[in-house]
Amino acid sequence: MKQAKLKVTLLSHTKDPERTIVAAIRQCYSQESGAELWEKVTDDQKKRLIKQVVASGHTSTIEHASFTFAIEGVSRALTHQLVRHRIASYSQKSQRYVKDGGFEFILPPTINKNSEAKKIYLNGLKNIQENYGKLLALEIPAEDARMILPNGCETKIVVTMNCRSLFNFFAERLCMRAQWEIRQMATLMLVECKKIAPDIFKYAGPTCVTEKICWQGKLNCGKPARNKSIELRERF
Ligand SMILES: Cc1cc2nc3c(=O)[nH]c(=O)nc-3n(C[C@H](O)[C@H](O)[C@H](O)COP(=O)(O)OP(=O)(O)OC[C@H]3O[C@@H](n4cnc5c(N)ncnc54)[C@H](O)[C@@H]3O)c2cc1C
Repeated sequence: MKQAKLKVTLLSHTKDPERTIVAAIRQCYSQESGAELWEKVTDDQKKRLIKQVVASGHTSTIEHASFTFAIEGVSRALTHQLVRHRIASYSQKSQRYVKDGGFEFILPPTINKNSEAKKIYLNGLKNIQENYGKLLALEIPAEDARMILPNGCETKIVVTMNCRSLFNFFAERLCMRAQWEIRQMATLMLVECKKIAPDIFKYAGPTCVTEKICWQGKLNCGKPARNKSIELRERF
């Protein structure tokens, strides 16, 4: 039984996502074909037009670029939250086909720093693992034996989202109200996206950062509207 380590790998993405999005934006207002417009995209257009569509909410145009991530070392609790994001594609390690004997586990920081809690948690996991093994030994199928496995069990998932959906995902899951683990994963995903398409993803993040607005009401984290706004404030 081993502690899992979070890893986010960007597997692939739309070829030149910013150029593709600008060609799509320009297609709305041009006689020329998308192919011709694609060839003529300038750096200035990338900065100006992408900012314009994000600020105006004309964000169907950013759906033309997608990103695919391989994610590992996360809990089933995390992926349960992740797959609530419907505008995406997912392929996850199956607990029916892949037997989880010797599963890795996620160790929440609150448990890690409390020695008594850590002892209880690790003992619980050990018991689960032993009993899972006993069920398999009794020829209980993996699809039934897995019912005993915990939320903290490690899993792996491949995720594809387009930029519009990623914006929604980052707004929700980089918020301090989001659960720590999915926030860590979203942070790593945004880092990867920014490497490939900085002119798009500089506008992505929780709304307290991108728009200087917190929608959480009484549930706010106590630090709403962080002083890091990024050019979009004129929208409000
Ligand atoms: C901090 C936090 C706490 C949460 N707590 C809970 C909780 O306690 N219980 C719980 O059940 N969930 C909870 N959620 C999950 C949340 O309610 C959403 O299901 C999840 O975040 C996915 O968001 P989404 O629907 O915007 O994303 P997507 O499913 O990717 O949808 C993207 C956007 O498409 C549009 N859309 C998609 N499907 C439809 C549709 N059928 N009809 C109309 N418009 C649609 C919406 O504009 C939506 O915002 C929580 C999420 C967060 C971030």
